[in-house]
Amino acid sequence: MSEAEVPVLNQVQQFLTRKHGLYIDGCQVASESEQRLTVYDPASGQAISSCADASTEDVDKAVMSAWRAFVDRRWAGKLPAERERILLRFADLVEQHTEELAQLETLEQGKSIGISRAFEVGCTLNWMRYTAGLTTKISGRTLDVSIPLPPGARYQAWTRKEPVGVVAGIVPWNFPLMIGMWKVMPALAAGCTIVIKPSETTPLTMLRVAELASEAGVPDGVFNVVTGSGAVCGAALSSHPQVAKVSFTGSTQTGKQIARSAADRLTRVTLELGGKNPAIVLKDADPAWVIEGLMAGSFLNQGQVCAASSRIYIEAPLFDNLVGDFEQAVKSLSVGPGMSTQAQINPVVSRAHCDKIGHFLEDARAQLAELISGNSGPNHDGYYVPPTLVINPQASLRLTHEEVFGPVVNLVRVADGEEALRLANDTEYGLTASVWTKDISQALEFGDRLAAGTVWVNSHTLIDANLPFGGMKQSGTGRDFGPDWLDGWCETKAVCVRY
Ligand code: NAD
Repeated sequence: MSEAEVPVLNQVQQFLTRKHGLYIDGCQVASESEQRLTVYDPASGQAISSCADASTEDVDKAVMSAWRAFVDRRWAGKLPAERERILLRFADLVEQHTEELAQLETLEQGKSIGISRAFEVGCTLNWMRYTAGLTTKISGRTLDVSIPLPPGARYQAWTRKEPVGVVAGIVPWNFPLMIGMWKVMPALAAGCTIVIKPSETTPLTMLRVAELASEAGVPDGVFNVVTGSGAVCGAALSSHPQVAKVSFTGSTQTGKQIARSAADRLTRVTLELGGKNPAIVLKDADPAWVIEGLMAGSFLNQGQVCAASSRIYIEAPLFDNLVGDFEQAVKSLSVGPGMSTQAQINPVVSRAHCDKIGHFLEDARAQLAELISGNSGPNHDGYYVPPTLVINPQASLRLTHEEVFGPVVNLVRVADGEEALRLANDTEYGLTASVWTKDISQALEFGDRLAAGTVWVNSHTLIDANLPFGGMKQSGTGRDFGPDWLDGWCETKAVCVRY
């Protein structure tokens, strides 16, 4: 361990050595299956823990626990203010365990300990408290109706929001705790119960926060966790007949599979999927803002961010200078383990993902693309990919169009803003986009014409609990966050009363 590496807390070491089961009905239970899935430290490639590889029977047990908890109203039947108090207590407990959760996240996912503290836990707390507050603001509307029969009858009508039922939350590996809580918290705020499945690569933090939820007073069966593969555990969960809604974040390919299986029973779905997000830099942009904003927008969490700026279109007059600035910035990034407080780029999540990014780069090299790379990682078995710029990639390269989900960014010279807009929108994705300019009219015009669920001006990848987020086109369906967030977790019931 180098001097800059954070020592692992005792409680983290103990948690890693536990034989983790599933979290059902308020406690750890052993899986029906003997199969285990190994959890690796991306910085070393060493096994650090394992989790249960849940069977279809395990998933059924968890869903039925959530279903019983829903139908006996042990959660939805509480006063909204009581649910809010419990959820705020839950947030306080997560805050008290910040360092433990941040270390677990860095050890299983690879990201910087600073990012784990600030984002995985720090930002998660903002979302937790925001959502807890929504619990006491659920409301319908009163509606005047024009029902003419029988003659002389009078009516009053209104709508009520009711929790949708048992929710299946399916989570990817890039922000395991934060994205997990983006499913748990709105479900609980709305009065639903949930079974959540973290990624098999990063299962640990969700198992730990489920214990904290129980400690905070969330009743047994309301918050359950199953761990396991996508093919068995994920598929069984998303197609279970007692699941009323699936909230999925992950790849577009898996999202489509889930939508297909949900169609059989018209299960509600929210899909937060992939992106290949453009940033358009116009010739009057402030270069210092561009470098600061798009270096973070592209390389945060090693580019393993659905909203990341992975295609940067730069108007010709600025192009050469900005490529020089990006090159300098990329080459100055230090690369090392997430537990180091000094490393700015850390390993990617897994050997398989490291190899996948490697194949994109091999394809680019084979086609003689111009690549500018920063530092390589330490010389051991970690999953390091050097931060890389691809200059004017040809249309034939896979990384020109496909989501790399790694520290690889395309810098493309464009003649003018019109060419940039055409290329920016030439994609099956539509998650995020940004435009960089000092001209407010240009900014608004481009904002209107970019086909993306979120458009930033002079920033990228900045999200907020009060700002709706989600994709257009094949980046998904539905929106998370914002004042109307719970609408996606409720049914609207119309009530009509004759008097
Ligand atoms: P993935 O689709 O491979 O897996 C996501 C989750 O789905 C995992 O828990 C996995 O076990 C499960 N799963 C896999 N197959 C399944 C099946 N047949 N049925 C049910 N569940 C199944 O995605 P990933 O590799 O973990 O994550 C990276 C992807 O997630 C990227 O495409 C990224 O853009 C996307 N993502 C999107 C957002 C967003 O908000 N739009 C946020 C983060 C990540």
